[in-house]
Amino acid sequence: MTLGTTYDPNNIFAKIIRGEMPAIKVFEDQDALAFMDIFPQSRGHTLVIPKKAGATNFLDADPADLSVLIGKVRRVAEGVVAALGPDGVRIMQFNGTPAGQTVFHLHFHIIPVFENEPVKRHAGEKADIAELEALAEKIRAALA
Ligand code: AMP
Repeated sequence: MTLGTTYDPNNIFAKIIRGEMPAIKVFEDQDALAFMDIFPQSRGHTLVIPKKAGATNFLDADPADLSVLIGKVRRVAEGVVAALGPDGVRIMQFNGTPAGQTVFHLHFHIIPVFENEPVKRHAGEKADIAELEALAEKIRAALA
């Protein structure tokens, strides 16, 4: 899917927002939802998405919606950092298949980076769900 792709209301993140698919959530308010990436690139890899459907990527999002969303990304990133104490954190965002995008509902990646723990490839191995739950619990506590 290239830039300019029409929004598919049945994409996996839209289904998570509607409660039709499970997700390990760490934050939710009227504007945004944050949950654990199930193919994490690092311990604590978290995704932040707008609840509003319609934007496949950064470029077709309303700038006013983006400005709200980036505040939520910052808040969740602070929680991830407080909970897990990484040495660094990547805030990432991909637009279009050639750029690495695999889910076509706008989202930001929060990828904590730990010294001596290599960052894994994008959308690679599925995580152990119990481990994700334990990480999510710490992040939720930090965000509370
Ligand atoms: P992107 O490739 O930038 O579109 O990011 C999509 C991300 O969603 C990838 O990092 C995937 O690992 C992740 N992902 C795909 N399906 C799910 C799911 N059901 N729950 C949580 N994360 C998912």
